[in-house]
Amino acid sequence: MANKFKYGGYAGQRLRIDLTKSQIKKVPQSEEDCALYLGGRGLDAKILYDELPVDVDPLSPDNILCLSAGPIVGLLGPTTGRMNVAARSPLTGIYGNSNVGAYLGAELKMSGYDDLIIKGRAEKPSYIYICDDEVKVRDASHLWGKNVIETTRILQEDLGEEFRVAAIGQAAENGVLFANIMFDYWEAAGRTGLGAVMASKNIKAIAAKGSGGLTVHDPKRYMEVVTDAWRAVEEDPGFQTGEHSALGTSVVLMLGNVQGWLPVRNFLENYFEYAENVSAEEFRDRFSTKKTPIPGGRACMSCPNRCKRYGVIESGKYVGTKGGLEFEAAGGFGPKCGVGDLEAVFHAAMLANDYGMDAISLSSTIAFLMEMVERGMISKDDLDGVDLRFGNAEAMIEAIHRIARVQGKLGQLGSMGVDRAAKAIGKGAERWVTTVKGLETISTDPRVSTGFGFGYAVASRGSDHLRAHPVIEMVTAYRKVAEELFGSPEVCTLAKYGGRAKMVYWHENIAAITDSIGSCRFMHASYYALYPIPELMAKYGLRRGKEVHSIKYHEWISAATGIPLTYEDLVATGERIVTLERALNTRFGIRRQHDTLPRRFLEEPVANGPYKGAVFKKEALEALLDEYYDLRGWDKATGLIKESTLKRLSMRDVLEDLKQRGLLAGE
Ligand code: SF4
Repeated sequence: MANKFKYGGYAGQRLRIDLTKSQIKKVPQSEEDCALYLGGRGLDAKILYDELPVDVDPLSPDNILCLSAGPIVGLLGPTTGRMNVAARSPLTGIYGNSNVGAYLGAELKMSGYDDLIIKGRAEKPSYIYICDDEVKVRDASHLWGKNVIETTRILQEDLGEEFRVAAIGQAAENGVLFANIMFDYWEAAGRTGLGAVMASKNIKAIAAKGSGGLTVHDPKRYMEVVTDAWRAVEEDPGFQTGEHSALGTSVVLMLGNVQGWLPVRNFLENYFEYAENVSAEEFRDRFSTKKTPIPGGRACMSCPNRCKRYGVIESGKYVGTKGGLEFEAAGGFGPKCGVGDLEAVFHAAMLANDYGMDAISLSSTIAFLMEMVERGMISKDDLDGVDLRFGNAEAMIEAIHRIARVQGKLGQLGSMGVDRAAKAIGKGAERWVTTVKGLETISTDPRVSTGFGFGYAVASRGSDHLRAHPVIEMVTAYRKVAEELFGSPEVCTLAKYGGRAKMVYWHENIAAITDSIGSCRFMHASYYALYPIPELMAKYGLRRGKEVHSIKYHEWISAATGIPLTYEDLVATGERIVTLERALNTRFGIRRQHDTLPRRFLEEPVANGPYKGAVFKKEALEALLDEYYDLRGWDKATGLIKESTLKRLSMRDVLEDLKQRGLLAGE
């Protein structure tokens, strides 16, 4: 198929499937939307903004499930395999979205489509088959009721291993509100319950294989830019230590325990006495297989970092357990639930993946129920006899099975997530939730990591580290660079607030870019290989060698697509995407009062560790919000977007829409 689209890098078409009407349409990609929102997360938000009924029930046929791969997906360059999934979230009721590193995005593009837009509901369980021009909604009755690993295996046996598969497990079918979509067996589009949306459409899986090609706007320049990008990553001091590759994301678990930001027993404590037992080092030594290029390592497409793990338990109670153990699963099922048994933690992570549940929301919900039991708010009888106390690994595993199956009182309570469980328990249980905008908080304590914490408060999908992910606040070696960028000597001091508004603003803008083009945030928020940080590191003597290489996404995108971008344009594009998501959330009722943290973090002091006594001060949060809204051009009183901001960002259609709805802020 000849690609006649104006911009390079794109497949140039959208694939629209209306399951209720049994319609499959291939429509041209939008030039204007690509120029303004790039792709992936940006285009998903635009499609939802334009087409989603504001009052849509997230689990009704009218919700829209979008999967989009950005303009550099499938092209050479470090980390070019990520894609975005979005819909209205059944868990939070606001904008739901999740980014995943896998190969399906590339297969979708090679088949000729940048975006897959799914509406309606199929009459019976089905899966979506995509092979170049051939697109079908096929019967999946034989797959319904099966979990992710089996579903993926059966489809690959039927269709061929070259097909890439995204699948849901039993949890989504049963209506667990934080059910996810699993790609290529092990990669999760984890957050905000998008698997439940897919199940509500009677779609069990998506399988794709493409044989087409992609072209870039300026091949010679493109090779120069991505070669520089590869070198920037390879020369990054953090990358050169090899720790992230060797140990995976869980490399930070021991660091968090020492630095005092690792939540233990549902954030009641900040030091875990069994941290070593559930550490990345322990996982490597006991379970990593030797069958992958880096022992136990896996990678998303075209990634030199290989931060994903693979291991197997070969004997004992949990024999046969396999897969990876990311930091959020290790931290969630380990310290957050008070469990120091690595085999149980690994098994819990595999069950979460296979049933298809977000490990963060699941482990947080179990930890919350454990606290409710410990406080006497609920009894063993309320949980069908399961003794769900902190540290009880067997009870945690049993809870996972029951939640995935929505079995009995425990299953019902756990399947709803923390906020709804607290409401169901009543008696004031809400005072102990650790959610923001209905989404459960990760394994990083916002009272200590205040940049992360402020990021949770303003993130467009609720409590979330990945909208901002300002790792720089934890790395004192970067202090001078961070000071120059974010304007405060406190930038790399934990439990302080200086520079956090600018820090979150900058990181959010860049993350919106990487999520939209299909790159990994670790390129700018772990390795800081992104312009201008390597240049600033050289200025402060933090890099050896004369030549400085950096990832210049603005040049990369321009060379790939032909969309002209300066660095300032790039930041403005990130700003536009964040503002579009805010506009969507504004329509869902989000205002300033929702950009906050739960009471536990504002009022309950950290119990132990180096930051014992710390809270996230309410007055500091309010001051940061004022500064952040000023940077964004949002109204300080209401959190609504100002008309001048939408004009500055060339978002005329959004401006007109919000004006009509009476949702614009005055100047
Ligand atoms: S760094 Fe890890 S998450 Fe990012 S693209 Fe590479 S393997 Fe995937």
